[in-house]
Amino acid sequence: MTRSFWLEEGRGSLRHAPLARPDVEVVGGGVTGCACAFALARGGLRVRLHEAREVAGGASGRNGGFALRGGAAAYDQACGQLGRERAGALWRLTERALDRIEALAGDAFVRTGSLRLAADPAERSSLEAELAALRADGFAAEWEEELPPPLQGRFHGGIRHVPDGTLQPARWVRRLAGQAAEAGVEIREGSCVVSLEELSADQVVLATDGYTHGLVPALDAAVRPIRGQVLVTEPLSERLFGCPHYARGGYDYWHQTAEGRLVFGGRRDADLEAEQTAEEKTTPPVQQALEHAVRELVGSLPRVTHRWAGIWGLTADLLPLAGRIPGHEGLWAACGYAGHGNVLGFACGELVAEAILGRSAPGLDLFAPERLLQAESGDTG
Ligand SMILES: Cc1cc2nc3c(=O)[nH]c(=O)nc-3n(C[C@H](O)[C@H](O)[C@H](O)COP(=O)(O)OP(=O)(O)OC[C@H]3O[C@@H](n4cnc5c(N)ncnc54)[C@H](O)[C@@H]3O)c2cc1C
Repeated sequence: MTRSFWLEEGRGSLRHAPLARPDVEVVGGGVTGCACAFALARGGLRVRLHEAREVAGGASGRNGGFALRGGAAAYDQACGQLGRERAGALWRLTERALDRIEALAGDAFVRTGSLRLAADPAERSSLEAELAALRADGFAAEWEEELPPPLQGRFHGGIRHVPDGTLQPARWVRRLAGQAAEAGVEIREGSCVVSLEELSADQVVLATDGYTHGLVPALDAAVRPIRGQVLVTEPLSERLFGCPHYARGGYDYWHQTAEGRLVFGGRRDADLEAEQTAEEKTTPPVQQALEHAVRELVGSLPRVTHRWAGIWGLTADLLPLAGRIPGHEGLWAACGYAGHGNVLGFACGELVAEAILGRSAPGLDLFAPERLLQAESGDTG
């Protein structure tokens, strides 16, 4: 019951291509690490990727499957935080990343749009402010006043984010890993890096998101692990939700798989403090709150077939850290997506690869690690 529904799908074996001496070693086999490794290999470098468990075994195979543009904050808030130009650049970066995901993911990605719903009048005002800011800057977004059952009468309208989509995230990241392996990346599953001293490459990329603990203390301090929980039901008799839906600032999110199963995640606010942990286990308070939310939404609780937890990384300003880690020669990070890493993680993995390849990486400056990291002395890599 505690295995992710996504990871249960069968997978083929990854072609193993052992390298004598890699130019770059990537730690973490989620979407970030696989995107980074693939881009580095396409750029001509010899790359070894270490994954402690299996490819997509972390948050990349345990998430809600929402592929959303933008960052964790709403667009109008990002404009206030970063300024309009930089916020616009971030949103455009993720829209391009969505296009790249669509090109690479095959049937693991469907371009459905997403629906961000207002649970009460206060949330409606927030959504109206976001919609106005998006439209003012030319981003495709629509207001949905009339909602179909079972949303009708329950929510106060919502924004349709047109470019978004739905992922089978484990299938997608395994596919990406397969493409990376085809390009020559040596993928070592079951390879937990305990110390950076073990690595021999000149350049090392830490792509561990919320599972970042023990390798670089400054990174551990800047990226806090947060637990998220999900449940999946048996297929419903009706197709009620054709795209990802989310409400209450993202504390509730749900969609239906192609076969009709309801995937419902969130309700972290049922036990907010306890969910600030790296312990990957489901808990009664949050699972009961998820069941309650499903009952409220569809009128009864269908049989629950899967429950699981995963860990994501939270930074103080809700933006990722991607780039060189100050004070460590040859050490890079791409992590801390504040629960919003399916698209951002892919984008940051590719951007860090571009920087390592010595190419321009427009947008990487948005995520400069030095803004949140204290420089530590010491050489690694
Ligand atoms: C329950 C849940 C729901 C979410 N829903 C969404 C969503 O709907 N949309 C969205 O955009 N985002 C969502 N997220 C966030 C998203 O899943 C993550 O931000 C994203 O997957 C991060 O990818 P990653 O590759 O950076 O990290 P991960 O996928 O977590 O991969 C990091 C990997 O590093 C490995 N690792 C760690 N330390 C070491 C080591 N020392 N040596 C070797 N390997 C190591 C881990 O085993 C892990 O597999 C959700 C997260 C959770 C937990």
